[in-house]
Amino acid sequence: MNFQLTEEQILIQKTSREFADTELAPGVVERDEKKIWPKEGIKKMGELGFMGMMTDPKWNGEGMDTISYTIAMEEISRVEASASVVMSVNNSLVCYLLEKFASDHIKEKYLKSLASGDKLGAFSLSEPQSGSDASNMQTIANKKGDHYLISGIKNWVTNGINSDYVILFAVTEKGVGHKGISCFIVEKGGDGFETGKPENKLGIRASDTCELYFDSVKVPEENLIGNEGEGFKIALTTLDGGRIGIAAQALGIAQASLNASVSYSKERIQFGKPISTFQAIQFKIADMAIEIEAARLLVRQSAWRKDQKQSYSHLASMAKVYASEVAMRASTQCVQIHGGFGYMRESGIERLMRDAKITQIYEGTSEIQRLVIAKSLIK
Ligand SMILES: Cc1cc2nc3c(=O)[nH]c(=O)nc-3n(C[C@H](O)[C@H](O)[C@H](O)COP(=O)(O)OP(=O)(O)OC[C@H]3O[C@@H](n4cnc5c(N)ncnc54)[C@H](O)[C@@H]3O)c2cc1C
Repeated sequence: MNFQLTEEQILIQKTSREFADTELAPGVVERDEKKIWPKEGIKKMGELGFMGMMTDPKWNGEGMDTISYTIAMEEISRVEASASVVMSVNNSLVCYLLEKFASDHIKEKYLKSLASGDKLGAFSLSEPQSGSDASNMQTIANKKGDHYLISGIKNWVTNGINSDYVILFAVTEKGVGHKGISCFIVEKGGDGFETGKPENKLGIRASDTCELYFDSVKVPEENLIGNEGEGFKIALTTLDGGRIGIAAQALGIAQASLNASVSYSKERIQFGKPISTFQAIQFKIADMAIEIEAARLLVRQSAWRKDQKQSYSHLASMAKVYASEVAMRASTQCVQIHGGFGYMRESGIERLMRDAKITQIYEGTSEIQRLVIAKSLIK
């Protein structure tokens, strides 16, 4: 067993850490408060190769392993989870899906510009009545000659406003449940396509999340990904990998909470001493550190198994459940250690707690992850 990062992974860690500290940290609290999308940061992430990290260089990606991706996700999430969610959707849900399941025509036309960061993608599965039960979707794609006409409403689409292309799931055959779902790539802005207003969220407020409306939107048949009826399988396979990215996002938020707790506890004087000298504070910090190390091992192990082409679905779920719960506990304790100051918006500390919460919800709630884990054990 080798826990040593490779030279390339160390370089990714250094680059992403420096990038996050110098380019994303300035203005992060204001962007959160005012819901300002981190446009410049996202552009720079594309230039640094962070938008198609695992995609083959043949399709303009960086051809890196999943461990490198989790390292960059952790470092960027440590500073701005609103930026890292943009990156995670483009990498794990869009580029990965296209590389694994799409035709060469689609890869040439769409994947190249997405992996290079020139264009941005979104992944649209959820609908108002179908969240955890994604197979209950109502959006319909009717085949008419050489194209499909798509109608329906999708909700809570990350990158819904700023993306150029959307991976869209819709029903091509009614009455057969998940076997009737198909996957498409849709260009934004055609006739009948409308983008909703940005949602007003608890956390990751600088990321954009919105509804998408489809009213007989014409999509060419060559934009079908895989075969008709394979959409649900494509979605689940893609989300398995996506969960590793979200686990890394949670890990970054937890690490930020620990870093802030350590430095504030050394500065804040009460009863004539730094609060770091109080055992109650030390124990909180120690517990955070223990859980973060354990979460990092789960994240790295699930990424490693994916890279080794071993089954990793249950481990990705374990990593996501655990890391997201660690992020919640660490960020809550971080606010506690900062006292009243941590409760103030301008401190940037309570943001960690608000950002952590989403990691327990999107890409499958903690309850759904536990179902996946139990199913892998009780076959
Ligand atoms: C900020 C944000 C960004 C998002 N981005 C995207 C995106 O880019 N693309 C996309 O497609 N979706 C996106 N989503 C949707 C997200 O994936 C769903 O919110 C999530 O899957 C849960 O679905 P739901 O909210 O409908 O909750 P529900 O499914 O209604 O669940 C409600 C509660 O019931 C529990 N529950 C449900 N079923 C079971 C069960 N069988 N057993 C036990 N408990 C259960 C859940 O765990 C949860 O606690 C986003 C959501 C948010 C909030």
